[in-house]
Amino acid sequence: MTDCAFFSFFAGKCNKLGVQIVLYMTEKNIYLDNAATTKVINEVSEAAVHAMTEVYGNPSSLHRLGIDAERLIAYSKKQIMAALGVTAEQGEIIFTSGATEGNNTAIFGVTETYGKRKKRVVTTTVEHPSVEKAFDRLEEKGFEVVRVSPDENGEITAESLIQAVNENTCLISAMLVNNENGYILPVGEAFREIKKRYPECVTHCDCVQGFDKIPLSQKKLNADIITLSGHKIHAPKGIGAMFIKKNLRLSPLMVGGGQQKGIRSGTESVPMIYAFGKAVELLSGNLSERFNHATEINTYAREKLSEIGAMILSKENASPYILSLAIPDIKSETMLHFLEEKNIFVSSGSACSKGKTSDVPTEFKVSAEYLDSIIRLSFSYETDGSDIDALTGAVSEGMKNLAKIRK
Ligand code: PMP
Repeated sequence: MTDCAFFSFFAGKCNKLGVQIVLYMTEKNIYLDNAATTKVINEVSEAAVHAMTEVYGNPSSLHRLGIDAERLIAYSKKQIMAALGVTAEQGEIIFTSGATEGNNTAIFGVTETYGKRKKRVVTTTVEHPSVEKAFDRLEEKGFEVVRVSPDENGEITAESLIQAVNENTCLISAMLVNNENGYILPVGEAFREIKKRYPECVTHCDCVQGFDKIPLSQKKLNADIITLSGHKIHAPKGIGAMFIKKNLRLSPLMVGGGQQKGIRSGTESVPMIYAFGKAVELLSGNLSERFNHATEINTYAREKLSEIGAMILSKENASPYILSLAIPDIKSETMLHFLEEKNIFVSSGSACSKGKTSDVPTEFKVSAEYLDSIIRLSFSYETDGSDIDALTGAVSEGMKNLAKIRK
């Protein structure tokens, strides 16, 4: 895949007084916010256009155009199943509008079917809001919700997840990679033991920040349900998928035409589905290369940013794609906008919180003095060392210039 450079040109025009102000800049966008969303790969957007303009039939139609559309869906299912290491005999791939819908479908779908007698549900305190808030709602409905927290070292142990489940538990939901700091939860180990002790407890994993980034398989995860999102892996926004293990009965969130085995009614978005499949195919082919690249970038960023006084918050063994750090005494948003002026795009904590402070860093035992100063960097195959050099230079400049307006 080619390294893409984006150039932005700003040219001022003559104002009414005839004073010509010409500001001409050629600068590449340094995009370090790939955990929020990614740039769509050209081949992937071309796949979507192909499905929109050439294979535009309704996949439920019996004629040839419908069957051709159905084939594109089958292709994408095959790609996702291969990436998860599953076969059609083991379960279904259901397409959704994204991971928010996937997580809601998993949590409400399971509890509606299996939560009539078993009223205990387990999750963690570091989940994405699409899981966290679904569990809040379950609590309002009368479920006993157990939320497992990181320990004093900021670790969620497999043992703590296992201990939270009992014979009255119908669901455990835990993410694989935390979106704010890249922390990898011991989901596979915990779910294996939970399935051994309580085979009826449904295991769900939000794999959004791990899928096609770190090595994973459904077998190793021991997850009955897996949630994925397209836009974190260079496919468009508005497409996601779920793996649902065979014989699991999920109550659908929406009723309608009964598409996708009745679990997700509504005409399938063939262009988005096909684009997702294409991205998975392209990325799965070089997962380890990209992983090694992200590791190099991450190591380099840790080194350079530590040198100028940044406090690295992500653990050494976190996903290499995400690096959380704090710039002492400078508010996250102040630094974010300072960097933006230089065409460097980062996130303050997590993009989902948009201005709201997230509790996740506190849960991970980040010291109170850093909570307002967190910056999240997230990398892609396009990130290179010069991006980190530019970032380090800009952060260093920011630390000097912004000192005057420190909190
Ligand atoms: N889970 C995690 C871990 C995420 O990072 C996100 C996206 N921020 C989601 C779920 C929601 O995904 P989507 O945007 O596809 O709804």
